Amino acid sequence: MSEKTLFTRIIEREIPAQIIYEDEHCIAFNDINPQAPFHALVVPRKPLPKVGDASVDDAQLLGHLLLAAGTVARNAGFGHAFRLAVNNGAEAGQTVFHLHVHVLAGRAFGWPPG
Ligand code: 5GP
Repeated sequence: MSEKTLFTRIIEREIPAQIIYEDEHCIAFNDINPQAPFHALVVPRKPLPKVGDASVDDAQLLGHLLLAAGTVARNAGFGHAFRLAVNNGAEAGQTVFHLHVHVLAGRAFGWPPG
């Protein structure tokens, strides 16, 4: 059996995190190293390593993650303006290889992103 990912260990409460949302398919918790006044991660229970590893069978799950991200932002009072980010691969800044959507809010965001 492959090793559990860090985020699976958070989902299974082996590692503590500030969990702010949970449903059948995903969980959201505050990022340990926030890059904005509000910074949460929406993580599917299914440990897909990267969004690029998703298949057509995951289409509903991927949509669900975006809907959950919107709910998380709204629940935190940032429904009017938030930034979603998904890093795919180390060169794109991914450090944890369990798919996650960053939800950032509470400050202005530049474009293009860094
Ligand atoms: P990535 O760089 O893979 O897109 O994002 C990984 C994110 O996970 C980073 O923003 C990092 O701060 C966050 N992170 C890493 N380890 C932990 C942890 O143990 N707990 C929490 N809450 N966040 C973590």
